[in-house]
Amino acid sequence: MRIDKFLANMNYGSRNDVKKMLKKGLVKVNDQSVKNGKTHVDVEQDVITVGGEVVEYVKYIYLMLNKPDGVISATEDGRHETVIDLLNLEDAAFEPFPVGRLDKDTEGLLLITNDGRLAHELLSPKKHVQKVYFAVIDGEVTQDDQIAFRKGVTLEDGYETKPADLKILKSGATSEIELTITEGKFHQVKRMFEAVGKKVTYLKRIEMGALKLDPELNLGEYRALTEDELLSIG
Ligand code: URA
Repeated sequence: MRIDKFLANMNYGSRNDVKKMLKKGLVKVNDQSVKNGKTHVDVEQDVITVGGEVVEYVKYIYLMLNKPDGVISATEDGRHETVIDLLNLEDAAFEPFPVGRLDKDTEGLLLITNDGRLAHELLSPKKHVQKVYFAVIDGEVTQDDQIAFRKGVTLEDGYETKPADLKILKSGATSEIELTITEGKFHQVKRMFEAVGKKVTYLKRIEMGALKLDPELNLGEYRALTEDELLSIG
């Protein structure tokens, strides 16, 4: 990897800041001063120092985002803002991607990482990772819906959903619910409610596996996972 990219990734400032540090002769690779940002380094073998301080190599980043409405769960999109556009430059330099997708109008918990192995573990249908959603429903959600969801409902394309746990938080002309599912079909929650004749008007993911959305995060905000959170999902 280029030394300027590496130092920017390790949070030593923007590429421009890094360029200045290099020019000043603050950066050494295996005790040799390096001034050219294009110099390639072996980030796992070389000892890289800035002002005498050894730079720790961090390979992966793990971020919890509270996804806002209107943003696409993808790394790039020609027309719309993506969840990666919400990150600051240093984090984006790791080339992370969202673990799974939330619809453009769905809010809430999205894990963003560059760790492909973890993403695969969390998304593999074989692992049955639980996802919990909070939703507002147009219509009265009833015990019959709870029973239907527990048994599995048939979506419009004929797919039979796996047992899901439906908690009714508020029932009336507009209802509020929490739904726990272990699969992740396209528009799954919306389609499950369509299957029982109801419409989701607001959807937010609040949990994925052991990971819970941090209530301190406002929409569009994110933070690194804590050590404990990482251990709990890894
Ligand atoms: N189910 C949906 O319908 N939409 C989402 O974004 C996630 C789950």
